[in-house]
Amino acid sequence: DMRMRLVTLTFVERCCTLAAVVSRQRISMSTPPSPSYEARLRNPASFIEEVNTQYEGLHRAFEEQFWGTKMALKDGSYTVDALTKAKGEMEAFLASKEKLAQTRGYLARSDLSEAERATLAIFERTFGCYIMESEAALALREKCTAIEGTLEDARNKMRLGAVLDGAFVELSSVGLRSKMRVDGSEATRKACWEGLRSIGEFVTANGFVELVRARNAMARELGYEDFYDYKVTQAEGFGKGALFGMLDTLEQGTRPLMEEARANLAAAKGEAALLAYNSAYMMAGSVTQKLDPYFPFEHAVEQWGRSFAALGISYEGASMRLDLLDRKGKYSNGFCHWPQPAWVKADGSFQPTVTHFTSLADPSAVGSGHTALTTLMHEAGHAAHFANIKMPSPLFSQERAPTSVAYAELQSMFLDSLVGDAAWRFQYARDREGSPLPFALHEEDVRAKHPYEVFSLRAMLAVPYFEKALYELPDGELSAAAIQALADEVETRIQGGPGGRPLLSVPHLLSDEASCYYHGYVLAEMAVHQTRAFFAARDGVIVDNPRVGPTLRDAYWRPGNSEPFLGLVERLTGKPLTGDSWVATLQQPVDELLEEERAAYAAAAKAANGAAAKAAVDLDMRVTLVDGDEVIADTTEEGDFLAACKKFEGHIRQRFPRAAAA
Ligand SMILES: [Zn+2]
Repeated sequence: DMRMRLVTLTFVERCCTLAAVVSRQRISMSTPPSPSYEARLRNPASFIEEVNTQYEGLHRAFEEQFWGTKMALKDGSYTVDALTKAKGEMEAFLASKEKLAQTRGYLARSDLSEAERATLAIFERTFGCYIMESEAALALREKCTAIEGTLEDARNKMRLGAVLDGAFVELSSVGLRSKMRVDGSEATRKACWEGLRSIGEFVTANGFVELVRARNAMARELGYEDFYDYKVTQAEGFGKGALFGMLDTLEQGTRPLMEEARANLAAAKGEAALLAYNSAYMMAGSVTQKLDPYFPFEHAVEQWGRSFAALGISYEGASMRLDLLDRKGKYSNGFCHWPQPAWVKADGSFQPTVTHFTSLADPSAVGSGHTALTTLMHEAGHAAHFANIKMPSPLFSQERAPTSVAYAELQSMFLDSLVGDAAWRFQYARDREGSPLPFALHEEDVRAKHPYEVFSLRAMLAVPYFEKALYELPDGELSAAAIQALADEVETRIQGGPGGRPLLSVPHLLSDEASCYYHGYVLAEMAVHQTRAFFAARDGVIVDNPRVGPTLRDAYWRPGNSEPFLGLVERLTGKPLTGDSWVATLQQPVDELLEEERAAYAAAAKAANGAAAKAAVDLDMRVTLVDGDEVIADTTEEGDFLAACKKFEGHIRQRFPRAAAA
């Protein structure tokens, strides 16, 4: 669903933007690796200790500046200059050629303990992400960066919009897409879609063609098949062939469902519903409005805490700062970050995480409560993951490369998927009087969405298939016209016709950090379904099942980025990752799905029996609810989690009286 994607993007944009900035600005030639004298003489433990503590300090200094400046806190030590300095210092550390050479020197020794070898291996992988070891490739990379800079600058200044009633109206791509979803006039929707299509024409005329060529040249210089192969290998540790082997199972498995859903849509709403600018509008229903009373904004924090505690999730002594409300001067993108990574120090003591999370909620807006709760389930899922990593270095638990996007998103997307479950909705989607979301409303929601869910899968899949084909175009055939024709061909092949979101309007294609990684979301969602199927088979239930948290902790969370994503999924679910579980979910007839959901809802109601709501919530975490510099509620001050939630609720009711009374 769209909202979840947006949250996902928010997290990813932040962590990957940082990684990319680091790698772009500081990427430098490495000296040929030669075990230094020092490495042969010194104790590896002291080198490891030095790298761990230095990195921890630089990471924290930068992230704290990031938070202080983005939240516009009053403390005079948060300044743009200090932020730039802290960032430069962290970047220089990550791109240190000396540290890489030293690490390799130590790795060559035969007297290392298993933990030392694993830690040095993550040092080597991490430094390797920020240093490019070929002069020719480095020069090509600089060329890419230059083209990309010019292209992004041009794109930011592009006059984007739609011709409405004969006059050009400026609208962002987000604006065009939302107007296309809700506007009753077909002519307006079509104009918005044409506005979105104009992005492709613009970018291919402003450097995208040259960028694709330069990216491929760089990747080939490094020994890869093409740029996509380079990106996927760097990010996930397996090549393009392995990736598309997995994606093909999903593509083939859901093709008949896509064709059937298109036929059903045409039968229900007319052939015109299949047109790119009509589908989203024709499918939209009134369910969102009806769900709203069951997601009161002021209860979101409490319901998230109750739900995670019932899953047996612990934050291992962490602390979390939540700045949820929009306000003037605040950074205009929500994000989640970890100024303090979790790790086990040399003396065996455990350092818990510190999480900061910000969103731009307006409690008086319809849907704000649903968004807040789903966002909390998602971001607090990331936080639970990072809080539970127990490895001997902060480099195993930081959110930048080489931590895989698919690995990180699996954790948060699995936990936010519960918001759609009937059992969860009975327990946690409660109106202000405490009544649960009625099953009839859940049924209406499922009936409206389930038959067309395959469309969002196909829209997601179209991006990696397009990028794969794009970087496989022979140099001689690359042109603006060829790229546009390819985008149209892939939309028709994967989505059944031109897409409501034209492929060339996807911003991920342009930037170095976001290009050729969209598959990360697809892999994460595949793994979410496979993990859900595993729990359903093992325990029968997921919601409020206290075995879920410990299972995730032991299989997915403890090892951090020391193990590859695919290995972790196989370890928990007992099977290699495939699209089968996702396909099975989509294939399930809606009546059969509703029977299961009805039973799950009834079972949750029977189990609850009025008593569950009184249970204490222990997340083993200090939670501080803030609004910039102001502390609204703090679990340590108030005594416990629920007392802090009560105080937060009172604050919201007082500040937004109409929202709370509505
Ligand atoms: Zn995320």
